[in-house]
Amino acid sequence: MTSSKMTIGVDIGGTNIRAALVGEDGELGAHIKFRTESEHGPDELIPRLAEHLRGLIAQSPGEVKGVGVGCPGPLSSTTGIVYEAPNLFGWVNIPLGDRLSEALGLPVRIHNDANAATWGEFWLGAGRDVGTIVMYTLGTGVGGGLVIGGRLWTGPDDTAGELGHICIFPDGERCSCGARGCLEAYASAPAVARRAREALASGRESSLSRYPAEELTAHKVDHEADAGDALSIEIMQQTAEYLGLAAAAMVNALNPDLVIYGGGMTAAKAWLFPVIERVIAERCFDAPAARVRVVAAELGDDAGIIGAAGLAMSAL
Ligand SMILES: [Zn+2]
Repeated sequence: MTSSKMTIGVDIGGTNIRAALVGEDGELGAHIKFRTESEHGPDELIPRLAEHLRGLIAQSPGEVKGVGVGCPGPLSSTTGIVYEAPNLFGWVNIPLGDRLSEALGLPVRIHNDANAATWGEFWLGAGRDVGTIVMYTLGTGVGGGLVIGGRLWTGPDDTAGELGHICIFPDGERCSCGARGCLEAYASAPAVARRAREALASGRESSLSRYPAEELTAHKVDHEADAGDALSIEIMQQTAEYLGLAAAAMVNALNPDLVIYGGGMTAAKAWLFPVIERVIAERCFDAPAARVRVVAAELGDDAGIIGAAGLAMSAL
């Protein structure tokens, strides 16, 4: 790695924090991962994070110019304040940007983690050759991000891109956000597992019934669908219908080049993508439907680190 202009990308998750040196062209250098252990609160976590980052800076082949952090939000990328991070104990109105910047003596930019991952895919992943992307991250929740005309669209309040909270059933299940019938309440990995449990409880026959209810996961539903289980196939296809409904709204609204799906549930793309493509074709105007492609994210767990570093770099 010979880049002269280095940044550090950081991805703060509820379980682990990952960070890496990132070169000017997005090449990844030294990499660290450690447990978040947020139960001691931000006053313990932020200095510990800074200490780990100093270790990375010491390994850099070139001068580190800045730090980009992807963090659960809501937060302000302008002021660097995390308003609330539901998975991080005690994180309410924490000036993460300023505190890290003071500890490291470097400029620090913070972004919503899903937005950072979206920017990573736009810069160097599945979206690298296009201008407008809609990205979903299918995991514990349904995250989202938007790049419109080559710019990350965060909105004036840094809240844009909450694509998991588009309503698909007005009177549907209660979502983690408090509203009813959001996409996340039907198409996140826990929601897929919940729908499988509900179907089994209603007496449906399925090879899923051999698992204890608490061990049912979206991954197992995908696996049993692959093995030919009718209920599992139905659940995967229904999940794809929901994802397709939400994606079709975005395609009609934004005329994107790509709809990108990342996160663990993308492993089920053989079930999901053909149905999503069909729903988009059925529901969208001809020109945007003909343009848009449905693709899987390419950077995996590194998308957030690369995107956070790239956003920090472009702000220097
Ligand atoms: Zn919601």
